Order: sequence, then C-alpha cells, then structure tokens
Amino acid sequence: MTPIGLKFYYGCMGSGKSENLIDTFQMVKAKAIVLQATGSRGSDDLNESREKDKLVASRNGQSIPCTAIYVDMPSDDLLSLCMGHEWVLVDEAQFLTALQVQTLKHISLAACVQTYGLRSDFRGEWFSGSSALMLNADNIIEIPRVCQVCKYNKATAHFRYTVKDGQLLVDRAGAQVVHKTKASYVSCCSLCNDLYASENEVGNLAKTAASLIEAFSDGT
Ligand SMILES: [Zn+2]
Repeated sequence: MTPIGLKFYYGCMGSGKSENLIDTFQMVKAKAIVLQATGSRGSDDLNESREKDKLVASRNGQSIPCTAIYVDMPSDDLLSLCMGHEWVLVDEAQFLTALQVQTLKHISLAACVQTYGLRSDFRGEWFSGSSALMLNADNIIEIPRVCQVCKYNKATAHFRYTVKDGQLLVDRAGAQVVHKTKASYVSCCSLCNDLYASENEVGNLAKTAASLIEAFSDGT
C-alpha cells in the first residue's frame, strides 16, 4: 500500500461527505479506523451530554461506528489510535485543531488519511480544522451540491436559523457551534446567502432568488 498523503474532502451540509466516507470504509474496512472530530473537550462529553455511541451517519440511512477526537486529545493519543491502520478516515474534520491536522499530516506519511468536513461556518469564517487542512492537505477535493434555496447555483455557504412562533429567525452572529437540536442550517449559494441578510420565509426567498438568476441568465 502506497500512502496517498493527506486528503481533504470539503463540501456544504448535505453534499454527501459522510456517504463518501462510508463508501470508502466499506472497501477498506479491515485496514481502517474511523474517527470523528467533536469540537468539544473530552470532559464535556463525560458530563451531561454524553452520547453513548459515536456514529458517522449519512442522509441515506447508513451509519458506521467511529472513535471521537476531542479538542484536548493529546497528539500521542491520536498517533496511538491510528497506529497499525493503513487507512484513517476522519469525519467532521472542520473541528480538528491545527495541531491535530499536523499530527494527521505526519500519519499520512505511512497511511492513507482522508478527512471530510465543512470549509467555513455559517458566518463565512474558517473552522480551525478547515483552515489547517486547506494549508496542509496534499489533495483538496470539493464535493459539490446545489443551493437548497434557488436550486440552481452551487452551494458555497450556509445560513443558520431557528423557528420561533412560526417565524424563521436567521442567526448571523451566534456561537460557531451550537447543539444540533438548537438550530437548523440551509446550504446555499452566495446570492441566496446575501439575500438572507434579514429575516425571510424560505418560500419567498426561493422565488426572489430564482427570478434574479433568471434575469442574470437573460443578460438583463
Ligand atoms: Zn441560491
């Protein structure tokens, strides 16, 4: 087996990153370890919101078990986890620390390391793992998906929202990470993202964005 270096597959939510990871795992599972960056400290998980089993789950219903990487996991522990495996597959790689990316870069000299994650957050800013991977990965591959709003352009951004009393509230400035039960996300193109600078209903926005794009494509 010749190592392929450090690969970073990035894409918006719903682009099929986890599905790609699971498909790769099915081909190499005897030689692979699957990891998932969590963006939290190990002690956080041991306290109140411990999740019994970590899973990489795709939207088509497949799931495989994985081992959590916490932001405070020492490099030596990460190295030990990966030792002896020819393939290292990392889910939610945007949550890796820069030091963990460096450690994976070293591991990639002896193993195939494939990481999967978001490029940027809902504010259009870097995640720590994404920026480090963009700098250090030997191979960077986009997994594209179409904008959920206009259903026309490629999605390159996300906006985050909550629904309160029937109103859709767009969150532009909250914490980078909130628990998955407390917010929803839409993957969208830059145009639809900008149109969402104020509160809107998704249906109205879809019409607005679609009509603008139609106007652009007519050259008017
Ligand atoms: Zn769009």
